[in-house]
Amino acid sequence: MSTSLARNVLVAGGAGFLGSHLCDALIASGAHVVAVDNLQTSTGDNLRHLQRSPRFTFVRADIIEELPASALPERLDRVFNLACAASPPLYQADPEHTMMTNVVGTRNLLRLAERHGARFLQASTSEVYGDPEVHPQAEDYRGHVNCTGPRACYDEGKRAAEALCFDFDRQKRVELRLVRIFNTYGPRMHKDDGRIVSNVVSQALSNAALTVYGDGTQTRSFCFVADLVEGLMRAMEHEGVQPGPINLGNPFECTVLELVQRVLALTGSQSRVVFHPLPQDDPRRRRPDIVRAREILGWAPRTELADGLKKTIAWFREQEQEAEEGYRL
Ligand code: UDP
Repeated sequence: MSTSLARNVLVAGGAGFLGSHLCDALIASGAHVVAVDNLQTSTGDNLRHLQRSPRFTFVRADIIEELPASALPERLDRVFNLACAASPPLYQADPEHTMMTNVVGTRNLLRLAERHGARFLQASTSEVYGDPEVHPQAEDYRGHVNCTGPRACYDEGKRAAEALCFDFDRQKRVELRLVRIFNTYGPRMHKDDGRIVSNVVSQALSNAALTVYGDGTQTRSFCFVADLVEGLMRAMEHEGVQPGPINLGNPFECTVLELVQRVLALTGSQSRVVFHPLPQDDPRRRRPDIVRAREILGWAPRTELADGLKKTIAWFREQEQEAEEGYRL
């Protein structure tokens, strides 16, 4: 997008999959970027190429603690909160930390934005809809979440964070933008993060068995990361009245088995498929209604699943090659 952002922007979760792509887009738009990350689910590799940019700073910190003022610029204009492990096995590994990241961490960042008079974008999630009884999911659907299940630390944490954000907005303490992000994939997904796209692509490339949980008839709608980042930038720079939550995702819905078949075809892999039990509370269907994003932000995803998967597979191949070359040295 062409909007120039000669601004000071903080990206919490900046070293992660989405955050690092967002940092790239912000730097390209002319912004000064401070990426904050505790490196819980990333190594910092995603940001290595930005290290030499005079407009980029990395701060290793956990948003559960207040960020040291000395590490931040005097003025912040924008705060993006993308900080939280988002893959079920990773966010369930330390559920207390996941909940606190969403509640205490979001409060800390909201207060920071309030002190700076910065606009605040909260990365919420399709998980606030839980295992939805309404399909596709529009923003006014209130969801069907199990508040005592293993996903609750994330789902309910994100729901509580939404409540906090909207209270800050009602009290005019921050200028809020809030997006609900649906499944997103692309280069820089961590191969071990346990999610469907990263799992099956890395399994296919190493001719390991492709793991399908349940019978594979559950659906998801996968959005390519470049499209999603464009949506984040548009949401943040949307002027005018606070538009409420906005779904960001690709409405093209497919079953897990269809995704697996596509990955097999695109990689030419001989891997077989093995079935594992469906994790508890795994949503049966998910597809965003993106009418609001289209109307308010003029945004819709542009990348077809086949093209996005090709780019993702190419990136995973490069990673494998680099790892092999590094090993030989
Ligand atoms: N899934 C799968 N095999 C895997 C990883 C995930 O079949 O190796 C399933 C998972 O049970 C879910 C869907 O793929 O139904 C998407 O899972 P993911 O963890 O990527 O995202 P989320 O459940 O958060 O939408």
